[in-house]
Amino acid sequence: MAQPQTIAVQCPVPLPHRTEITIGHGGGGKLTQDLIDRVFRPAFSRPELEAQHDGAVVSAGGARLAFTTDSHVVSPLFFPGGDIGKIAVNGTVNDLLMCGARPLWLSAGFVLEEGLAIATLERVVASMAEAAAAAGVGIVTGDTKVVERGKGDGLYVTTAGVGLIEHGLKVGPASIRPGDAVVLSGDIGRHGMAIMATREGLAFESPIESDCAPLVAPVQALLAAGLEVHCMRDLTRGGLATALVELAESSRLLFAIDETAIPVTELVRGACEILGLEPAYVANEGRFVCILPQAQAASALEILSRTAPGGPPALIGHVRAAPSGRVTLRSVIGAERILDRLSGEQLPRIC
Ligand code: MG
Repeated sequence: MAQPQTIAVQCPVPLPHRTEITIGHGGGGKLTQDLIDRVFRPAFSRPELEAQHDGAVVSAGGARLAFTTDSHVVSPLFFPGGDIGKIAVNGTVNDLLMCGARPLWLSAGFVLEEGLAIATLERVVASMAEAAAAAGVGIVTGDTKVVERGKGDGLYVTTAGVGLIEHGLKVGPASIRPGDAVVLSGDIGRHGMAIMATREGLAFESPIESDCAPLVAPVQALLAAGLEVHCMRDLTRGGLATALVELAESSRLLFAIDETAIPVTELVRGACEILGLEPAYVANEGRFVCILPQAQAASALEILSRTAPGGPPALIGHVRAAPSGRVTLRSVIGAERILDRLSGEQLPRIC
């Protein structure tokens, strides 16, 4: 007689076939991935793109370079702890760092709406200059375009960046191994909640400030210490959960995460509860995960506790071989569930 079998059945919610762009296509979740897979990857297919990392790693003249780009449409333009200019610089700087590179040069492209106060632009540009100086990069080229009144939303900024890889490590999803530790650099959810609290007019005892910050110091310190960093990923749009799902799928490995180990401030947790959001999906602009051999996790934590913005850093889980492409989250009561990308848009125009 046949033995009874346990069959794992998954019932993904079907995504309706879209014929137009929706706001959810910009959310970093399932719809964004669908757009990339349907439109961009088939058209631009190249090995550098297939690495599915925060930037491309390319070689030229004997040097290994990281190259990345990011557009910024955050609304409002100014919020506690940052503004569109600070995000535009730090977002690109951090993506270069996630490739294991030292960020060097940035470009800045501006799409301005007719009627925007020049004083507003000056404020954004001053913030970009300050952020670039703090991260040790130069903004060395740029572009300006103007659209008619009503056809933009004040100001959009696109930055691209180039960095130099000065070591022999291959930092990316393909280097992740079973047994690796997953180390988180600090508390999560501040950026998304700072934006949402501003938009919703929520007042707390103390305002939630965005965590927008360059990750130069912690990343350079991890690399300078000679740690065998396998992969890094900043936790921007879609938050920690989406970043881990992307890494699990790209590496075809399992990420087993302990929810109780994830640092979240009381303020952020409270704001998330009011708005019905899960901190693991809320955007950050100055936090990252580092995946490296378990034996080096303690060293990484010690380095991050000295150098990473926010805090405290935490060992939140580890990597296993199977079932491949999955992220499991063990809750306070020991229940385990599978994390997935969000299907729609949780927080539109967060960066
Ligand atoms: Mg990134």
